[in-house]
Amino acid sequence: MIQRNSGRKADELRPMSAKVGVVPNADGSAMFSFGDTVAIAAVYGPRQLHPQHMQDPSTGILRVNYDLLSFSVYDRKKPGPSRRSQEISKVTQWALEPVLDLKEFPNTVIDVQIYILQADAGTRTAGINAASLALAHAGIPMKNLVCSVALGKLDQDIVADLDKSEEDFEGGEGPTDFPIAKIGTGNDFSLLQLDGKIQPERVKEIISLADVTCKQIYEVQKKALKEAFQ
Ligand code: UDP
Repeated sequence: MIQRNSGRKADELRPMSAKVGVVPNADGSAMFSFGDTVAIAAVYGPRQLHPQHMQDPSTGILRVNYDLLSFSVYDRKKPGPSRRSQEISKVTQWALEPVLDLKEFPNTVIDVQIYILQADAGTRTAGINAASLALAHAGIPMKNLVCSVALGKLDQDIVADLDKSEEDFEGGEGPTDFPIAKIGTGNDFSLLQLDGKIQPERVKEIISLADVTCKQIYEVQKKALKEAFQ
C-alpha cells in the first residue's frame, strides 16, 4: 500500500467544509471545500433568457460557468476562459441537469457561476458540490443533491480525493484521476471521467468507493443546508 503524503488512508477524503448563503446578492449560493481546494457557487434565476430568440418555450436552460481564479494556484494562471474551463463548465452542467426539471421554467435560464478560490486538485468536484448546494439554496426544485469526488489510482492502489501532489505522482503505474458525481445516495451517476489508465476489473472498486465517499459528502451537504434554513 502506497504511503499518501497527507498520511490519509486510501479511502479517506480530505477534511470537508460546506456553507450555504455566502453570496448575499445571489438567489442561492454555497462554499464547498476538500482540504485546500475551495469552491464557491452562486445561482441566479430562473430568469428570462436574453437574447429572446434563444428562449425555448418548452424548457428552461442551465448555464454553468466554471472559473479557476488566477490567484488560486501557485503558478499564476492566465485569467479568462480556456478550453479546460469550457470543458469543466460543460461536464458540470451535465452532472447537475438530471436532478432539475427545467421544463418547469420555460423561456428561462438558471445561471450557475462557480469560482475556484484555491486549487489543490479536485476543483470540478468541489465546484459541483457547491453548485448543487447553491441550487438548493436558491429554492429550485431538485430531485436530489449531486455529490461529487475525484477517485483514482496511485500506482496499484485505489484512492479517494487525490490532491495535487498525488495527481502529479510519477512512481509505478502513475496516477489515474477518476472524477465522479452521483445523484444523492442512490445508484445513478451523472459524471464519470477518466484521466490516466485503469484495468476494467478495478473500475468496480472505484464504483464501490464512490458509494461510500458520496454518502459522506451528502451528509456534509445536508448539514450545511439544515444550518442555513434553521
Ligand atoms: N491547475 C493549475 N493550473 C491550471 C489548471 C490546473 O495549477 O491552469 C492545477 C489545480 O490545482 C487543479 C489541478 O491542477 O486543481 C488539477 O486540474 P484538473 O484539470 O485535473 O481538474 P480538477 O482536478 O481541478 O478538477
